[in-house]
Amino acid sequence: MNVHDTERITGLLLNAGYVQALENSEPDLVVFNTCAVRENADNKLYGNLSFLAPRKKIDPNFQIAVGGCMAQKDQDSIIKRAPYVDVVFGTHNIGSLPVLLERARIEEESQVEIKEALEHFPSTLPARRHSAFSAWVSVSVGCNNTCTFCIVPSLRGIEKDRPSEDIMKEVRALVDQGVVEITLLGQNVNAYGVDFGDRGAFAKLLRECGKVDGLERVRFMSPHPRDFTDDVIEAMAETPNVMPNLHMPLQSGSDRILAAMRRSYRRNRYMGIIEKVRSAMPDSTITTDIIVGFPGETDEDFAQTMEVAREAKFLAAYTFQYSKRPGTPAATMPDQIPDDVMRERYEALHKLQQEISEAVNQEVVGTVQEVLVADHEGRRDGQRHRMTGRSKDFRLVHFNVDETNPPRPGDLVTTQITKASPNFVLAEGLPIDIRKTRGGDAHDARMKEAGPQALMIGMPTLKQLKKV
Ligand code: SF4
Repeated sequence: MNVHDTERITGLLLNAGYVQALENSEPDLVVFNTCAVRENADNKLYGNLSFLAPRKKIDPNFQIAVGGCMAQKDQDSIIKRAPYVDVVFGTHNIGSLPVLLERARIEEESQVEIKEALEHFPSTLPARRHSAFSAWVSVSVGCNNTCTFCIVPSLRGIEKDRPSEDIMKEVRALVDQGVVEITLLGQNVNAYGVDFGDRGAFAKLLRECGKVDGLERVRFMSPHPRDFTDDVIEAMAETPNVMPNLHMPLQSGSDRILAAMRRSYRRNRYMGIIEKVRSAMPDSTITTDIIVGFPGETDEDFAQTMEVAREAKFLAAYTFQYSKRPGTPAATMPDQIPDDVMRERYEALHKLQQEISEAVNQEVVGTVQEVLVADHEGRRDGQRHRMTGRSKDFRLVHFNVDETNPPRPGDLVTTQITKASPNFVLAEGLPIDIRKTRGGDAHDARMKEAGPQALMIGMPTLKQLKKV
């Protein structure tokens, strides 16, 4: 979500006349788009700000802006701690950034703008996409859940759904520009429709995406098990361009901990959903997020998480050690887990998951997979003939190519998998087929238009924007 917000911030600033500063040049503006999900976000932000303070002292025209969840959380206390910051803008105030920068310049005074809630979804903000052929499209912002470890609802507000006509208009416009892969994005993507009273709205959206000519791949993140309905599984299975991968956070395998997390599903429900997904799409993969060391988690609770991981056979699990977020109910819960216990559990789960991932990847050795070539060529060990991409079911694939005729990022390559490891699969023979796509054309066009800088524009960091 933050990365996509950065694309919006970039788009706005480019529209307002800013251009990206060249590498190693001195920018006139630095924008921090912050995330407050992890504990050390504060340290990171204030460390970065103090690094810029000397520059600000000698050059008052140099501007610094801080946005994102930290800005929403700390509001004007950012200015108290770092008075040289020019603009602090909240998660609902992205659209105001150019005006706030201008105002700070003219009035020579720091500007703080934080809206507590959105009245409507900001569909009209421009975006400068990081990739020419793969794009995020927001379907909603905010979240109506109250998970006790999560700071998102207090910083991003309640769920605001975007009208489906606006979403589809953006999808079609992106496809016209050469985008071949869309990821529908929301804090709780399958609750989409709650705002306008249509429980079937997300499944309908997937089916609508299926009607867009030229759209090769549709993904979404992240669904919540509570809101996962059978019509979404049917839509996934019946819509050929919706990819057979489900990323659905588990968080814990213990019902007791799920209740303490205020995650309103239980282990059986979670397992029931993935069973249905697998029976509707036998070639699908499941990925997940798991938190270890939530307050009160006993050895028995943790053993249940390990058990679910074994049963669920995730392709990948993004595991996190519980990190206290001030202001969340879990931060003040008794029985916080000591760091060493948390680390031990984390390592045990990580080791188990590595074994599972390798076994799941082993299952496709010998099969032929279609791979969308990634933006970055992902050369490993200096092997210039190896590129990287994702299979339909979201495996990371490193594949060999003929250097005299390599595919372009954005093209689709069909290749045979020869080896598996926990984190990727390997295709050592040359591709069986390379299908040039409009995505590859769009990538080429961007490279020609802006040279090697092309890939940097719209990158998730906006540290180098210069006003002309
Ligand atoms: S559903 Fe996700 S975003 Fe919403 S409160 Fe829970 S963890 Fe946070």
